[in-house]
Amino acid sequence: MSRIVVLGAGISGHTAAAFARSRLGGEHTVTVISPRPDYNWVPSNIWVGVGLMTPAQVTLPLAPIYERAGIEFVQAAAREIHPDGDADTTTPYVSAERADGSRTRIPYDFLINATGPALRFDKTEGLGPDAGHTHSVCLPDHAARAAAALAEEVERMRGGQRRRFLVGVGHGTCTCEGAAFEYIVNLEFELRARGVRDMAEITWITNEYELGDFGMGGMHLRRGGYMIPSSVFNASLFAERGIDWITRAHVSRIEAGCAHYETLDGHEDQHEFDFAMLLPPFTGVGLQAIDRDGAEITERLFAPNGFMRVDADYTAKPYEEWAAGDWPRTYQSPHYSNIFAAGIAFAPPHPISAPHKSPNGTPIAPAPPRTGMPSAMIGKAVAGSIADMIGGSPSPTHTASMAEMGAACVASAGANPFTGTAASMTVYPIVPDYHRYPRYGRDQSRTFGEIGLAGHWIKIVLHHLFLYKARLRPGWRLIPE
Ligand SMILES: Cc1cc2nc3c(=O)[nH]c(=O)nc-3n(C[C@H](O)[C@H](O)[C@H](O)COP(=O)(O)OP(=O)(O)OC[C@H]3O[C@@H](n4cnc5c(N)ncnc54)[C@H](O)[C@@H]3O)c2cc1C
Repeated sequence: MSRIVVLGAGISGHTAAAFARSRLGGEHTVTVISPRPDYNWVPSNIWVGVGLMTPAQVTLPLAPIYERAGIEFVQAAAREIHPDGDADTTTPYVSAERADGSRTRIPYDFLINATGPALRFDKTEGLGPDAGHTHSVCLPDHAARAAAALAEEVERMRGGQRRRFLVGVGHGTCTCEGAAFEYIVNLEFELRARGVRDMAEITWITNEYELGDFGMGGMHLRRGGYMIPSSVFNASLFAERGIDWITRAHVSRIEAGCAHYETLDGHEDQHEFDFAMLLPPFTGVGLQAIDRDGAEITERLFAPNGFMRVDADYTAKPYEEWAAGDWPRTYQSPHYSNIFAAGIAFAPPHPISAPHKSPNGTPIAPAPPRTGMPSAMIGKAVAGSIADMIGGSPSPTHTASMAEMGAACVASAGANPFTGTAASMTVYPIVPDYHRYPRYGRDQSRTFGEIGLAGHWIKIVLHHLFLYKARLRPGWRLIPE
């Protein structure tokens, strides 16, 4: 009998738990530990943030799903991993904290860390919806508050007041530019739909060196017989929509109605706003690792940014020497063969986009994204490896390197069944491989982009399909990640 414990019930952890359960016999247990009672289909938070969906439409209660599937659910936040047990037991365990502050211990034979990101609004003074002056769409509740504030701004514009909107990322080291991009084009679409676009000034602020970098070093997209750099693709989308942009920016401080920022050339400036949606930088969630004697060994398991070290090549190298082969394949901890990290929780070996610093030494470059599709594929691969290891395999059998997988992204650019659009992009591989594809690092026959109404319908279908899959309804395994 083996105990598989999954930390986190997001896209990666939920996928890993579901596949582990479906692969393993009833003598083995699968337990998910997660602090929230719900599963959140995060990509659709964008639509909550513009008032087109409610939080209830993008979340599912986990307890009934897990009960039906035979997965144990512990609603708590993991705090410590004891990979060698402690003075009383040699059994590895996780110590988790419930909402009431009490602690619980969950023993494991295999552990999957899929805790996603900590939302580090605190890294920029004045950032965020709780202690700051900006909105977010990272969580359904944040998105609902953004939608309510947007509705108020629309009323002001209807009353004749001009309003300024600032959307993008709130720190020089952020990732997830794609999500902020989706929000700004949806916002612009909604302002048009509500008849107030002419009263709004909309500005994009980003740490990207060029538009369309998305933390993936940009890409060259095949489109309509042309090969278009994503910088041109995005500039065109913004120009068509009358959206201004500020690139190469580190937002350093937010006051009510004003964002202060530094650009790569060392220039300091500010931008006034009436409504801002700026995503925060991410780190790991702060799990600690403790050895048998009670000494902290967090640095052994985790990188300084709190993400878990796995089978990547973390040797510090100059940018010119970064290689696709540095990226992890099995997501197994190099120190503990029974610990894996999946989704955002694993530590990337290095960024994908070129690193840049301002003359003041401020890093201004996107961190690498780990979007939904790779997060789910990694979760599935890790579950497959663990099932095989329980069956007797000495090492992981499944791989899911981001340097060997493609990703499809459908970025909503306006939600309406007749006039809506979405930018659909596929890229292969996610991490460019200049050894295999010397020119652009990617297979250009599999890297393309298109924008149109069909993309919107695909996005809607994906929303319902992935929520159906997350409910683990009949045939869920047939729905791809
Ligand atoms: C607004 C937005 C829109 C996006 N849109 C897209 C899109 O269109 N397409 C796309 O591919 N990707 C998109 N992404 C990215 C995508 O959401 C992420 O790649 C994906 O959610 C990562 O999955 P994950 O399981 O690693 O992390 P998450 O989905 O964040 O899940 C982490 C889980 O861990 C739990 N957790 C946190 N702390 C602990 C703890 N201490 N102990 C136990 N559990 C813990 C959390 O509650 C959560 O359940 C978007 C992201 C955002 C923010």
